[in-house]
Amino acid sequence: MNRHRARIAAALILGISVLAAAGCGDAPAPPSTGQGDYTAPPLPANADLTPPSTASGTAETECADPTASLRPSTAAQGPNLDAVRARGRLVVGLDPGSNLFSFRDPITGTLAGFDVDIAAEIARDLLGDPGLVEYRILGSADREKALQDHTVDVVVKTMTITCDRREHVDFSTTYLMAHQRVLALRDSGIGSMADLAGKRVCTVGGTTSLDRLHRIQPQAAIMTVPTWADCLVVLQQRQVDAVSTDDAVLAGLVEQDIYAEVTGPPLSDEPYGVGIPKGNDDMVRFVNATLQRLRSDGTWDRLYRQWLEHALGPTPEPPEPIYRD
Ligand code: GLU
Repeated sequence: MNRHRARIAAALILGISVLAAAGCGDAPAPPSTGQGDYTAPPLPANADLTPPSTASGTAETECADPTASLRPSTAAQGPNLDAVRARGRLVVGLDPGSNLFSFRDPITGTLAGFDVDIAAEIARDLLGDPGLVEYRILGSADREKALQDHTVDVVVKTMTITCDRREHVDFSTTYLMAHQRVLALRDSGIGSMADLAGKRVCTVGGTTSLDRLHRIQPQAAIMTVPTWADCLVVLQQRQVDAVSTDDAVLAGLVEQDIYAEVTGPPLSDEPYGVGIPKGNDDMVRFVNATLQRLRSDGTWDRLYRQWLEHALGPTPEPPEPIYRD
């Protein structure tokens, strides 16, 4: 049902862009990309353009397998779990601008998507009701701070588990494996990261996507914006030539624009984990127990089929959990 609504929303957006491109008449011709000739502002709020640099970005922090997490426990004992029960709501950080993962259902206005449903399953196990969730809207750049400040219990927002982030926050086991790629308009001639030298690329600040872009293609000018939806807007407005982030996120953008396509090879593994404040081991073990239930009772398959299969291809096996104790 939700997926159906997401498609209605995508079709509406698509219809508007088709009509606009076609002058409300004939079949639309693919619009010209006009690389190097960018539309002037207005840009989305807080957009920022960094010129190409000669430096190739900072090296990635190294550690033992960052996806190894604590063994699941359904004991449901511990101060952080007790605090959520006393409050009666699980406070979840996510954003409303990630189609397929967390976006507003156009009919009900409520948040929907794969990440929203993962959060609801944690609330179901902890509080007995998947609806007992309170959302805190976070940009990608705000996720770690929200966990460090304890303004959220968990973050469920296409968040890659990395060694660097592990220094500040904890993570569940991997609940989805994504891969960074490039999104461009179909007639753009952009087929890989190499083609982005001298071009403008959009990504979101505070992400692994931005770090990798700096490392792999320092000769690109990088526009950072607050949300992935903003990246689609600046691509459609011809203010950038491409967008680069996880294939899972890009698939959500492709659904909203018939002229966009994901191109080039995968550039990285992006294991998504539920972000949890550092030291909240009771919560880590509890969330890992929920994820284990989702993998084994068919819920993970159902959610993948509902939200992602039509955009990313046949439902794979859920990621195998790796435990470190
Ligand atoms: N997975 C990437 C990250 O965690 C990008 C996705 C996002 O920020 O929403 O940085």
